[in-house]
Amino acid sequence: MPDYLYECPNCGRFSKIQRISAPALETCPTCHAPVKRIIVGGSVLIKGSGAIKGGDWDGKKQVEDYYRRKQKDEHGDGID
Ligand SMILES: [Zn+2]
Repeated sequence: MPDYLYECPNCGRFSKIQRISAPALETCPTCHAPVKRIIVGGSVLIKGSGAIKGGDWDGKKQVEDYYRRKQKDEHGDGID
């Protein structure tokens, strides 16, 4: 089964092994904040995610963009 990577705004990155057909997690199993699934090529096992926090990580911009869009949706302010 593939190992999916998620980004939690509170806990940082974590990985979860799921079936391909399983739905993506929407909330963090630890703190229940909304999480974003990060697509990784192949079956990459990430360990020691502490090294990622605060670093320059390519996906960070995507995650920020995701939360910005999500907030906008929730507020329904009609911009765009
Ligand atoms: Zn969390």
